Amino acid sequence: MTDASQSLDSIKTIGVLGAGQMGGGIAWVAAATGYQVLLADLDLAHAEKGKAKIAKGLQRRVDKGKLDAAAREEILARITPVESIAGLAPADFAVEAATENIELKKKLFKALDEAMPAGKIIASNTSSISITLLAAVTSRPELVVGMHFMNPVPVMKLVELIRGLATSDATYEVTAALARKLGKTVITSKDCPGFIVNRILIPLINEACFALQEGLGSAEDIDTGAKLGLNHPMGPLQLADLIGLDTCLAIAEVLHRELGDDKYRPANNLRMHVAAGWLGRKTGRGFYDYSKR
Ligand code: NAD
Repeated sequence: MTDASQSLDSIKTIGVLGAGQMGGGIAWVAAATGYQVLLADLDLAHAEKGKAKIAKGLQRRVDKGKLDAAAREEILARITPVESIAGLAPADFAVEAATENIELKKKLFKALDEAMPAGKIIASNTSSISITLLAAVTSRPELVVGMHFMNPVPVMKLVELIRGLATSDATYEVTAALARKLGKTVITSKDCPGFIVNRILIPLINEACFALQEGLGSAEDIDTGAKLGLNHPMGPLQLADLIGLDTCLAIAEVLHRELGDDKYRPANNLRMHVAAGWLGRKTGRGFYDYSKR
């Protein structure tokens, strides 16, 4: 059995697959920590679009006086968009952060396993999909681990690590050390649908969707209720719009199917928003309208 041929110090380049909001955030934080980053998506244009979004986010920091312009340039210079998964081959550690879909992730893990040299760790940022299942499609299950960042990655302090059945101690230790080096606090979850954070969060969001659907109150009432009544920094419907309603639905479906309990069934209005393409902030409309903001 091969095992992590690397220590934390041997990791110089991080490969990120998926240049959406999470992949972009992971690339940003890794580059800001000093790592070289290779960023892949469907093709080079999507990867470049991901880098352009990071550039915009960094510029907002510069405008607010939180980052100097030279640091912005240095961070961006460390991020190289690549054309395909094969372009991630020089990376010492890979993190997959593509769309939350089991069949897609299985396909991507097979491709990453073929592209990455033996001995390198492949992590997934999945919110809910079994790490054991993803590891099983590779030739290196002991080197596969869940590395679940929170959104937005540059702001949120937590990384939830998930050990699959085959994940080795060395893989876990190197990944935990990397997460800490990226400035994050680590918690560890068993490989169980939704892990710790989404096992708690998604039923909350889904219940808020039911409350809206049943007319208990307006979206604003529900969110204000959670903010002022529960001391949450944002309401569950606002948070769902930030996460992406497609991602929330995909996680809810995993919880429902894998845990086999109808209490996890996704609310119809969550399904309908996704069917309409109202995916939240990323499309300009979700439970709220962001088009004029
Ligand atoms: P997103 O929709 O912003 O980005 C997904 C990216 O995956 C897109 O850029 C898309 O083009 C890319 N992609 C799709 N198919 C691909 C393929 N075949 N090859 C390469 N790239 C492909 O979604 P996101 O919010 O960044 O979520 C990504 C992952 O992170 C999901 O697994 C999600 O569950 C997880 N996650 C999301 C959040 C959140 O709050 N949104 C938080 C933690 C973890």
